Amino acid sequence: MSRRRLILEEMGLGPVWRLRDVKPEVAAHMAADGATATAAQLATPVGEALDIAGGAVTTEPVVPETASEIDRRSRILAMDWEALKASVARCVACPLHQRRTNTVFGVGDEHADWLFVGEGPGAEEDAKGEPFVGQAGRLLDNMLAAIELKRGENVYIANVVKCRPPGNRNPEFGEMSCCEPYLTRQIALIKPKLIIAMGRVASSHLLQTDQSIASLRGKRHDYQGAPLIVTYHPAYLLRNLPDKAKSWADLCFARDTMRDLAGNALAQ
Ligand code: URA
Repeated sequence: MSRRRLILEEMGLGPVWRLRDVKPEVAAHMAADGATATAAQLATPVGEALDIAGGAVTTEPVVPETASEIDRRSRILAMDWEALKASVARCVACPLHQRRTNTVFGVGDEHADWLFVGEGPGAEEDAKGEPFVGQAGRLLDNMLAAIELKRGENVYIANVVKCRPPGNRNPEFGEMSCCEPYLTRQIALIKPKLIIAMGRVASSHLLQTDQSIASLRGKRHDYQGAPLIVTYHPAYLLRNLPDKAKSWADLCFARDTMRDLAGNALAQ
């Protein structure tokens, strides 16, 4: 990452984008989505010049977040479920769309009390179009069962990004920014009573913090009025078995928090 971008991000001003040309078919997709071509044009952070649309990279000046990006975000934040799913399915706003097999929208009860948020799809999720269906997903299902929850029953599972980052790397800042309105809208539509952020990517993204999981665990945080609890990502737990005990403590804390919330709701 360039020094300039590091400084801008540090100041909360990143990312900045380089203008580029867009293939007509990509522009058509975006127009159909109500997005403007410039959202795709602007989708590559400076210093990481992937030619997402296969067009020539221009040398226009670097520009900050534009009116068209704000416009795209407002449109997404006004969508209903159907429009939101369609929009994700045809999204080309960041380079991750190039290598995906399927977008991975999210799965579960659209009125769930519980929302679990992961990072982004892996290979199996990309192949199936459903979150957490691989090894980490099997562990997540077991974690849910441990507190008497089941995928799809009062539970919704989503990711920060809807397309697979290559090689299972962490999603980059620009990719998360492009996908942010989708998760924001999902949460607004679900109106969960409790959000569980699994892992560093989800917790940093939702809480806008760079604090470690260790320092965020065991507390009730707030995401736009909804209580949020942080725990380890299931894939991390597969590699760090001793931390499973901590994750069990987090799940018990989550279950107790939900009971408190239900108790408070009854008392009102
Ligand atoms: N890891 C995630 O964060 N999400 C998935 O959907 C699968 C693995």
